[in-house]
Amino acid sequence: MNLLEMRHIRKSFDGVEVLKDISLTVKEGEVLGIIGPSGSGKSTLLRCATKLETYDAGEVTYGGSVGLVFQNFNLFPHFSVLKNIMDAPIRVQKRNRAEVKQEAEELLEKMGLKDKANAYPCQLSGGQQQRVSIARALAMKPDILFFDEPTSALDPELTGEILKVIRQLAQEKMTMVIVTHEMDFAKHVSDHIIFMEEGYIALEGSPEEVFESSNARIQEFLGRFS
Ligand code: ADP
Ligand code: MG
Repeated sequence: MNLLEMRHIRKSFDGVEVLKDISLTVKEGEVLGIIGPSGSGKSTLLRCATKLETYDAGEVTYGGSVGLVFQNFNLFPHFSVLKNIMDAPIRVQKRNRAEVKQEAEELLEKMGLKDKANAYPCQLSGGQQQRVSIARALAMKPDILFFDEPTSALDPELTGEILKVIRQLAQEKMTMVIVTHEMDFAKHVSDHIIFMEEGYIALEGSPEEVFESSNARIQEFLGRFS
């Protein structure tokens, strides 16, 4: 089953086309990695896929509900960790508070943050804040989870703990779309990779096909990381 289909998506800002006829599908249980230079349209693609942004042409369809994890965590600063996780399931999904609380506590335990339930975001490290925002996204029980550079705001030593959590979700067969600059991680966690350039899908395929491609553009891009 396809959980996400984008067909012929186009998007312009101020007359400049930043997504040029993007089509892709994500199947249930699949991890799609999206790589490419800064400004190539990766965030816009995710924002159109999750309908945070309108698009000018094309179609997006889902086979389920979506969750999104941002680069800058976007936690509510005046809410405790627990309340950050419980707020949307209770307020948006109208679910039972006691049940949501129990699930939130389980998610915190899974993220290794059981003792931080009553802390406020400012009392946490960046890595801890990002784990809370992953727990918050999971609390909505999404069928597909989108990550936009989940580690790029973190100090290098905190990146690993986030990548580990995402790897674990992949092992549990969570369907995910992950924009990342962590090339080794993208290669190992993804079932399929898209390389974006200037608003196009310049290359796509299995991790082996993309990373071992003789395509000059991808080799030039990958060369920046080695
Ligand atoms: P990436 O995530 O790959 O770095 P983005 O999707 O953020 O790329 O940006 C793609 C292009 O669209 C860039 O040229 C960027 O400046 C432009 N862009 C993105 N969002 C907006 C916006 N809200 N208004 C105007 N231009 C935008
Ligand atoms: Mg971006």
